[in-house]
Amino acid sequence: MEYEPVIGLEVHVQLRTRSKMFCGCAADYQIADANTRVCPVCMAMPGVLPVVNKRAVEFTIAAGLALNCSIAELTKFDRKNYGYPDLMKGYQISQMDLPIAENGYMNLPDSETVPGGHRVGITRIHLEEDVARLTHIGAGPGSYSLMDINRAGVPLMECVSEPDIRSAAQAEAYILELQSTMRYLGISTANMEEGSFRCDANVSIRPKGAREFGKRVEVKNMNRVRAVVRAIEHEIERQTEIAEKGGVLPQETRGWDDEKGITLEQRSKEEANDYRYFPEPDIPPIYIERAWVDEIRSGLPELANSRRARFAGEYGLSQYDADLLTASRATADYFENVVRARDYSGDKLQSFSKESANWINGEMARLVNADVDPAAVITESKVTPAQFAELVELFQSRTINNNASKQVLAEMFASGRDAGDIVDEKGLRKVDDADALDPIIDKVISDNDQAIDDYLSGKETAIRYLVGQVMKATRGAADANVAAELIQEKIGSLTKR
Ligand code: ADP
Ligand code: MG
Ligand code: ZN
Repeated sequence: MEYEPVIGLEVHVQLRTRSKMFCGCAADYQIADANTRVCPVCMAMPGVLPVVNKRAVEFTIAAGLALNCSIAELTKFDRKNYGYPDLMKGYQISQMDLPIAENGYMNLPDSETVPGGHRVGITRIHLEEDVARLTHIGAGPGSYSLMDINRAGVPLMECVSEPDIRSAAQAEAYILELQSTMRYLGISTANMEEGSFRCDANVSIRPKGAREFGKRVEVKNMNRVRAVVRAIEHEIERQTEIAEKGGVLPQETRGWDDEKGITLEQRSKEEANDYRYFPEPDIPPIYIERAWVDEIRSGLPELANSRRARFAGEYGLSQYDADLLTASRATADYFENVVRARDYSGDKLQSFSKESANWINGEMARLVNADVDPAAVITESKVTPAQFAELVELFQSRTINNNASKQVLAEMFASGRDAGDIVDEKGLRKVDDADALDPIIDKVISDNDQAIDDYLSGKETAIRYLVGQVMKATRGAADANVAAELIQEKIGSLTKR
């Protein structure tokens, strides 16, 4: 029998608000010393009252709109009770039956691993609060746990997908697209390693063609996209093996062990939590005015999916270049600003765009990554889009060659100076007229008897060495092809003599 995987993802996204979800504490818990971003509200002192962070609600509405959801007219918060000591109040304020957004979808782009694309339903997007961070030290007698309350109360948005995903590759595409959407919206750093984007995978299998779903296993503890993909692949394999042996698959929660590459049982359905949800009495229900929703909608940026298609069409970029450029909004913005710095149209626009894309995705990406500051992004580099456009033009017009262009860009990156000034100062303008190269080549020939002899005795590679000497003498400014031709001509006339 053939089996088909059925997958649904639950993703927690930490929102990039300045303050926490229900109090005025700063939400920058990553950079703060332990327990320095706390107040009576997020420490759950008796008698305190929560106040809803409006910006967090706005961010969740934006996410809902970007994911084609309908936005609730009436939403409310609920108490979710569970007995783990990372909850300061003994319960988490979350949302149960009236989430801010529901019934949306995401289109996965057509790609090699997801041929033809795929649509994944979004069940709901709701808002809740993050919990304190516990660090367990030791085991057994004498062991203890450290608690950092800074993270407790940071706004957390949960996005639940329909069980519409059918492969690990689709799950990967869904995660990448969701991350990209969160970053384009500017509502989260959406970084799995740093914990601002956490994904649980629900996986089941069913006989191919069956309509009913099998019992799902919820897999937790993955902190990289790669880990989610591996965990899903492993789970599909494990479940299929059990089913093929005629075994029964229980509904359970399993944890991913990244080192061993397997999932391990955490708890079965019988031990599942009873959250005893009830409406949060300290927060009144919220009516979301349509005018507010419209205002948020009109402020939404163009998202990666649409930008990708537009870059390929309008600028004639390859799918590969368009994918790379639109992977981050900053890079996509930078590219468009470079192109807009010139008033080109038609073929000229396309060739200038392609060349700009090459230099942004190639040399510029390398320089940005090589920079010591890991948070550095292209838009914060010293090279303005207009300056970048000038460099691309100098290269396209063959005023400077490839090597010189790289040198100039590196210098621009370090100093923020204009390309033209650097070219003039360093004398990098390409030397391709014979008159200018003539004396240099004469000198190289008279200085390199050995290489000439080699060449004359049939060693063709000697010419490359001679061209290298010309490049050295011109500090990279010579046109290598022209130089090679001239050298061959000159040696030819030598032998005739
Ligand atoms: P819970 O909080 O109990 O995990 P949720 O409704 O928040 O429940 O999430 C359930 C998730 O499991 C959703 O992403 C849904 O798409 C997915 N899911 C539901 N049934 C199945 C199934 N049979 N196989 C795989 N995934 C499933
Ligand atoms: Mg769940
Ligand atoms: Zn607080």
